[in-house]
Amino acid sequence: MLSLFTIITFLAFAQKPDPYFFDKIAFQEKSNFINKSTFVESQNYALTDVVYQRMEWEINPNVLYIKGVVTTYFKSETQNLSEIEFDLHSSMTVDSVVQCHQKITFSQSQNKLKIPLSEILNEGQLDSVSVYYQGTPSNPGFGAFSKTVHAGVPNIWTLSEPYGAMEWWPCKQSLVDKIDSIDIIVSSPDSSRTASIGVLVSETVNEKIRRMHWKHRFPIATYLVAVSVTNYVNYSDYLALDDGSQIEILNYVYPENLAAAQSKTPVTTKIIKLYNELIGEYPFAKEKYGHAQFGWGGGMEHQTMSFVSNFGFNIVAHELAHQWFGDYITLGSWQDIWLNEGFATYLTGLSYEHIKSDTEWYNWKKNRVAQIVSNPGGSVFVSDTTNINALFSGRLSYSKGAYLLHMLRWVLGDESFFLGMQNYFNDPEIANGFARTSQFVEHMENAADTSLTEFFNDWFYGEGFPVYSAQFATGETGLLTINLSQTSSHNSVGFFEMPVPVRVYNINKTDSADFRLIHTTNNQEFIVDPGFKVAELKIDPDYWLISKTAEIVSVPTISKSNNIVVYPNPFIDRINILIPGNERITKTRLFSTDGKLLQKTEDHKAGLFLKNLPIGIYILQLTTSEKTYEKRIIKQ
Ligand SMILES: [Zn+2]
Repeated sequence: MLSLFTIITFLAFAQKPDPYFFDKIAFQEKSNFINKSTFVESQNYALTDVVYQRMEWEINPNVLYIKGVVTTYFKSETQNLSEIEFDLHSSMTVDSVVQCHQKITFSQSQNKLKIPLSEILNEGQLDSVSVYYQGTPSNPGFGAFSKTVHAGVPNIWTLSEPYGAMEWWPCKQSLVDKIDSIDIIVSSPDSSRTASIGVLVSETVNEKIRRMHWKHRFPIATYLVAVSVTNYVNYSDYLALDDGSQIEILNYVYPENLAAAQSKTPVTTKIIKLYNELIGEYPFAKEKYGHAQFGWGGGMEHQTMSFVSNFGFNIVAHELAHQWFGDYITLGSWQDIWLNEGFATYLTGLSYEHIKSDTEWYNWKKNRVAQIVSNPGGSVFVSDTTNINALFSGRLSYSKGAYLLHMLRWVLGDESFFLGMQNYFNDPEIANGFARTSQFVEHMENAADTSLTEFFNDWFYGEGFPVYSAQFATGETGLLTINLSQTSSHNSVGFFEMPVPVRVYNINKTDSADFRLIHTTNNQEFIVDPGFKVAELKIDPDYWLISKTAEIVSVPTISKSNNIVVYPNPFIDRINILIPGNERITKTRLFSTDGKLLQKTEDHKAGLFLKNLPIGIYILQLTTSEKTYEKRIIKQ
């Protein structure tokens, strides 16, 4: 989902330049609607497996009302199942419940519909019930079932995320069970057409009633089921695939916006192609992808048919990305909303990197970082999922979540990062199902062969970011000494252990050199060889990190420290360490040249056995009671 500032809010902000309006689109830090959900997930969700639902609805866009019948085929997951339970808001009136052509009893209370089954089911047994109901839905959250008007024409549309499906249909609003297959059949006045999920099977008009039948044969999370009804016109874009097949991008748009839409949607094919290459094949290629215009100020990633307010690049790239992360792989808990929103936001960033100009990609990163560090606290992990404002925080779930991925890419390198992303996407355990953060972490750890416990403690559960300061000086030898420190913006994290990108320039900025400093302790000294006299130093010039820079000071000279000696270097199986004066080694760390921590010890060692290390160049970091030294060592 992606929500936009309304035009009115935009105008209100227009006098003061807002850094997030680089493309006149922004994530709303919601404050203008509700905020606290009372929805409780049922203990009984696990008792049944919903295998199929057929929804037949009558919707007239002139009237905020729904009438219909929802038939649910379900399998018992337990012995002696005597009752099935649905989430359904009390504003919906159930007229009858039918099982095997017989009306059966039911009860409604506290937004639950309970139906005692006419026959007790054993584990694995299949049954079905049809619920006939109608009513005027209440519209909490993002407007579960809403009516808006465009060019004088009404549009009824739905947006159920996170807890709104039960406002307008009997469902199992869970994050443990996808509906394996659905049919959606909507009858409306013939001036209206219905956009929905999957493939359009038929569209017929009879006695001024238009009936549109959509079918979808992939598992779908309840909150991704949606319809939108208005006077749509449609057209398609196509992406040709290497194997000769094609993916249809079906667009249902308001007639008055047809020309504008037709000029903007073709880029969708480029973005699908990019995600196919970076992550894996578009999961619903056998059916379609599509856009349906609707009246909410933003976009929502309904499966195979994103609902959008406009066809801007951001919204198109974001909702499309959700088909991989959100729809095909769905968050397993609302606490993990970043698995949907952080991922969709980062894939949007990747679209900027690959499809837009370098400047646009640079500005995308710069604006995300500015937004994240505009407040010193806040975690990507959501502790209170009843707080919808916190859940859909643009700053945390979207931007900081996206930047968590961007920093992982920096720490692990492109090869391991994208391999981990692909392995996560291809994991059969979560394909067409649900995932938790721990499953993603495991894939990334395996792809990079490293532990990410500390990284996720700092950046996922922890709050805040490092604020860097540095001193630099060129010594008599021409080598540059950099002294790097950080303070944490929030006390939940003491120190952000990160490789820090640093760029140095000569006086005229005709020369520059980049270094990757493995920052593990404050007041850490790095000695590097830029090959020219350094006049200026920048920390994180390309926005790889969530960070701020406090101050950078150029000092005339640094008194030459007594250096340690590491020998032999190059070495074969053992290196010896000679330390000056009274200093004593308290920890040693061994890094690969791209900054990956390979080995660490926390005690005094005058030598290290590194016989099993592959041949190559490494960075040995030695911390003494006085300071930290780094030595480049070569294994032969
Ligand atoms: Zn989203």
